[in-house]
Amino acid sequence: MPNMQAIETEPRGTWWQRLLIAIFSLALTLLFFWALGFILQDIGRLPGPDWNRLSGDRLDPVMAATTTRLQEEQAGIKRKIENEERRRQVLRDSTATSQKTLGQLLELQRMSLEQQSQLPEEQQQALTESQRVFLANQQRDQELTESISDHQERLAAIAEELRQHLEHVNVVQTPVREEYQRLQTSHRLRLAAIKIGVLAPLLVLAGLLFARFRNSPYAPMVYAFGAAVLARAFFVMHEYFPAEYFRYILIATALAVIAWLLARLLQLVARPGGRARQKQIREAYESFVCPGCRFPIRRGPLRFMAWTPRSLRRVSRPLVGASDEPYACPSCGLQLFTACSACKGVRHALLPACEHCGAEEKPAG
Ligand SMILES: [Zn+2]
Ligand SMILES: [Zn+2]
Repeated sequence: MPNMQAIETEPRGTWWQRLLIAIFSLALTLLFFWALGFILQDIGRLPGPDWNRLSGDRLDPVMAATTTRLQEEQAGIKRKIENEERRRQVLRDSTATSQKTLGQLLELQRMSLEQQSQLPEEQQQALTESQRVFLANQQRDQELTESISDHQERLAAIAEELRQHLEHVNVVQTPVREEYQRLQTSHRLRLAAIKIGVLAPLLVLAGLLFARFRNSPYAPMVYAFGAAVLARAFFVMHEYFPAEYFRYILIATALAVIAWLLARLLQLVARPGGRARQKQIREAYESFVCPGCRFPIRRGPLRFMAWTPRSLRRVSRPLVGASDEPYACPSCGLQLFTACSACKGVRHALLPACEHCGAEEKPAG
């Protein structure tokens, strides 16, 4: 029966052929995925709103200039204060030294006064000089302190002015910022729309290819393409849809997939298609039970016997000598043996070929 052989052997190839097919299918999926990624990336590079241009167009340039001027002035005064404080520190160091010298000289003078004598001319001069330097330093110190204090007042005034100015700038900028946000949002939506616009026809194409070729030898290529497009669509939705919507998309997709798989499985069990059904029928005939209701097929030498498929396997003597009468299941009425339309011999009604002449007939039921 050459035709039966062709049905039985599946075109699956040797194991290394299957391995190579799996590897290449995976590579094809990845390549499709990358290629789609490049396209989507280029779409993502479309220019969006430009903050600098928008704020430049919409805000008064004088205002920005004022900000800069105030900030520069503030920095300048801070530098001046630092300089003067440094100078005052140097001055105070030097004053401390001269104060010490002055103290020593005064002590010498006091001692010489006690001894009713005069300080030597040289020391007298040094004393006068020290006093002069000391007083001059005090004077200078005083001036620096006053200047620093003036600068600090000015600094506080500028800081206040800057604060008010920035507050004003903030108020003026708010509508511009809001508009920028709005432009940004619509730009994102536009990008999402373009990306989905590119992916949707590809999804439809993948669906059509799946419907058309899923049972053909080229099915792995169709699966690779479909998986890549689906994955990309998923990422795009994840990127652009708010998380709370995406959660629903995710759960809906998972529900659809699982429900579909379960339905297919239930259908397969309830109405075994093709090969599985053929196998069940074959096994039933082998065990002499009705493929429809499992009732024993009592014909020929088995007419007066009782058995189950399990007890039948233990029977040692061969059960030969089939009857050549047509036979229907007395339990469910299913026609199990009929006359062959080619050779008129009695054949299995639910198996494809006649056991006498090999003629193939579409099995009834
Ligand atoms: Zn039956
Ligand atoms: Zn026949």
